[in-house]
Amino acid sequence: MAAAPALKHWRTTLERVEKFVSPLYFTDCNLRGRLFGASCPVAVLSSFLTPERLPYQEAVQRDFRPAQVGDSFGPTWWTCWFRVELTIPEAWVGQEVHLCWESDGEGLVWRDGEPVQGLTKEGEKTSYVLTDRLGERDPRSLTLYVEVACNGLLGAGKGSMIAAPDPEKMFQLSRAELAVFHRDVHMLLVDLELLLGIAKGLGKDNQRSFQALYTANQMVNVCDPAQPETFPVAQALASRFFGQHGGESQHTIHATGHCHIDTAWLWPFKETVRKCARSWVTALQLMERNPEFIFACSQAQQLEWVKSRYPGLYSRIQEFACRGQFVPVGGTWVEMDGNLPSGEAMVRQFLQGQNFFLQEFGKMCSEFWLPDTFGYSAQLPQIMHGCGIRRFLTQKLSWNLVNSFPHHTFFWEGLDGSRVLVHFPPGDSYGMQGSVEEVLKTVANNRDKGRANHSAFLFGFGDGGGGPTQTMLDRLKRLSNTDGLPRVQLSSPRQLFSALESDSEQLCTWVGELFLELHNGTYTTHAQIKKGNRECERILHDVELLSSLALARSAQFLYPAAQLQHLWRLLLLNQFHDVVTGSCIQMVAEEAMCHYEDIRSHGNTLLSAAAAALCAGEPGPEGLLIVNTLPWKRIEVMALPKPGGAHSLALVTVPSMGYAPVPPPTSLQPLLPQQPVFVVQETDGSVTLDNGIIRVKLDPTGRLTSLVLVASGREAIAEGAVGNQFVLFDDVPLYWDAWDVMDYHLETRKPVLGQAGTLAVGTEGGLRGSAWFLLQISPNSRLSQEVVLDVGCPYVRFHTEVHWHEAHKFLKVEFPARVRSSQATYEIQFGHLQRPTHYNTSWDWARFEVWAHRWMDLSEHGFGLALLNDCNLRAPKAPDATADTGRHEFTYALMPHKAPSPAPATSWSAFSVSSPAVVLETVKQAESSPQRRSLVLRLYEAHGSHVDCWLHLSLPVQEAILCDLLERPDPAGHLTLRDNRLKLTFSPFQVLSLLLVLQPPPH
Ligand SMILES: [Zn+2]
Repeated sequence: MAAAPALKHWRTTLERVEKFVSPLYFTDCNLRGRLFGASCPVAVLSSFLTPERLPYQEAVQRDFRPAQVGDSFGPTWWTCWFRVELTIPEAWVGQEVHLCWESDGEGLVWRDGEPVQGLTKEGEKTSYVLTDRLGERDPRSLTLYVEVACNGLLGAGKGSMIAAPDPEKMFQLSRAELAVFHRDVHMLLVDLELLLGIAKGLGKDNQRSFQALYTANQMVNVCDPAQPETFPVAQALASRFFGQHGGESQHTIHATGHCHIDTAWLWPFKETVRKCARSWVTALQLMERNPEFIFACSQAQQLEWVKSRYPGLYSRIQEFACRGQFVPVGGTWVEMDGNLPSGEAMVRQFLQGQNFFLQEFGKMCSEFWLPDTFGYSAQLPQIMHGCGIRRFLTQKLSWNLVNSFPHHTFFWEGLDGSRVLVHFPPGDSYGMQGSVEEVLKTVANNRDKGRANHSAFLFGFGDGGGGPTQTMLDRLKRLSNTDGLPRVQLSSPRQLFSALESDSEQLCTWVGELFLELHNGTYTTHAQIKKGNRECERILHDVELLSSLALARSAQFLYPAAQLQHLWRLLLLNQFHDVVTGSCIQMVAEEAMCHYEDIRSHGNTLLSAAAAALCAGEPGPEGLLIVNTLPWKRIEVMALPKPGGAHSLALVTVPSMGYAPVPPPTSLQPLLPQQPVFVVQETDGSVTLDNGIIRVKLDPTGRLTSLVLVASGREAIAEGAVGNQFVLFDDVPLYWDAWDVMDYHLETRKPVLGQAGTLAVGTEGGLRGSAWFLLQISPNSRLSQEVVLDVGCPYVRFHTEVHWHEAHKFLKVEFPARVRSSQATYEIQFGHLQRPTHYNTSWDWARFEVWAHRWMDLSEHGFGLALLNDCNLRAPKAPDATADTGRHEFTYALMPHKAPSPAPATSWSAFSVSSPAVVLETVKQAESSPQRRSLVLRLYEAHGSHVDCWLHLSLPVQEAILCDLLERPDPAGHLTLRDNRLKLTFSPFQVLSLLLVLQPPPH
């Protein structure tokens, strides 16, 4: 057939080709309509419903009842198991045969007792290949099982994706039949769609665009859908076009298969286990059919789940990992939040993760992988370095609301100066489909394309799982090297970063935190989860410290390594980026609270056992010893139990990481360091609390009218203003309810005014003075607060209980300070950083809501005001309609200060540090501890200074060696122990880990 000249109008030509491949129009005569040939129903279909997530062996024993296409099943979170008995017609010999399955929900096909493929309409997986080519002697009868979860890829939101789940949702089976699949038609469709993409994407200014359009037009001319013998001619036209290669300067796109599975989000943890199986078994099947396909998989926890629930699938995963096709990445236990976990918890993400990857896959990960979280701590580069990682892939900063981040490939320099190479996939997604549009966008968007000629391209359905499809792979393979487009290479993350490293001379450096200008509500939503996280971090810290000290002092004590690993893994699981952030559904929040309860109860049992072993044989009066788990001496007022269940106050002094007996009541008075607390209530109802260090004045409604540093007479509250002022804000974001708090909420400020006369004296002075009041926030919500000042204490505490029943409101408390500074200081992991207090530039005002750990400070020369702990309440409605309603209890404290001054120690102290700049954060048993007698100590420099200091030890230590965060000794890191002291040198914000080998204990 002679080719006619292509004289067609651009638009009509384009649309002609579109109609030829359309799934909607002209399917009676177009090419798309020929994708499948003959079809026939399955022989027998039966099913049963269950609210449980059953193992296969148990499910197939159940009673299956007859079922048919059109049946509906449910409700939400249930599972419908289908038994599919089928017989392929003999006439189909020589053909490719599929089981075509379309239903709501997420399906998993089981064959001969093993999972073989996921089936989801949303993830474009609606057919299972029964045979590539039916042989004459092949068995034609077969029984399969399809396990369908009653939830979509993204849960079961009522009306919208992030709405709370609809518990009554029903699901339907709409297709279950056998059909002949025409692979040659499929390949032509892929080519035609790519050519259309090139024509549209390059546009009329580009000659290659016309070549693509005319090639497609010619293909339609020569191809008769009813006559398959015409297909090869069309195919040859496409091959000629795609075989025309680009030049040497072509940008390279590194395409890596991926499937972001949120460890819990709009669905519970237990469903994630099945999501992993469905997604990964499908990825393995694609690896078998496409040996060049590489798939990157993060999150050790998910692999551990599959290992225990699907052992057969897991051993195949390990096989494909050996072949280099299934590539573990990330190095962490889960993809955690990048702001809220403590520094130590971030270290444990890597410690648990890297050790798992090493044990299960023979090597640690060399890339940190966190595509989807809501900002990244300035300490992450140093933590990555300490865990053997110099490369980081993420993407979320493309969601910035105000400022567009200036780089896609750059060096990121952390708080201490550690540098890592970072890449953001420039297509702004971790769920690409392999279209020409995405490929072109990747290059066009890449802000560093003149500096480094490589980009990542992560393809596959993500968030709720799903992963790549064969069609995506067919597209990307066809685009491997075509003139006019970037080169596309199926690569591993290692190949991408190696290419970037060798092309890194001109890259820029970004210093400090990677702040996401969106989702700032995740710092506050679900206050109970935040509180549980911080409390459990503290409990595990204390268990490890006391167990380490007990280990050093007692030959009988067994360090609870296995229990601690279990509890740490639960805590790390809850630090997933949609759990600790509060952006999950109610079901997940409840499970998270159960995890915290487990950690609390088991942790406290372990704590008691360790304390008993540590203090054995050293009873104080009434057998009571007080243990201090912090690395500095503490003099504090404590409530001590009295016989009969009552409590009495006592002033106790305990050295750094040590213990002291309770002082007998008679010796209390002489111990008072300075004046007792005075409490005076005036006739107008106002109350003054004074301990000689600070003087606090509260008005009759409980607001702070004055806070004075007594020695200097310096007032901390701004003139004419009041502190401890509660204020309500409207809190209606644009869309992402639980995630976001918008700048405009600040324009809706409404002070909550109390009633005069509600303030009363609580504790009358001496060791402790306090006043308390009730405040009606609204007709539905109220709070009570006790304002407490202790003897010798430089700060005033506000113990608060709130009954909160608001919708879309945000409660804050204000302290207008008589301090002027353009910067405020906030604690972050292993250090602190400063952020502006003004809105000069768009980068400044985009940080109207920021995060901090346990303190923040506003200081000018010679004076400052610090706020300890945090308190804030929000009431978002999606995805959890009940988020944050109910009772809350929290404490914050206010401390005006000149400069801190530590005091000397007595009694028994295990460890103390000579410099106030250095914090001894963690004491634990080493992960691989010979004879279980090695400890790991983690210290950091907290002031941002170069420091030489002494670490005093009173444990019997044989050897001290510096090590990294994964506890691998530094060969040049042997330290000399002199007079029970070790000399340590720190640079600003440096984290040091120390391996201590203990001497055998006395028997
Ligand atoms: Zn996510």
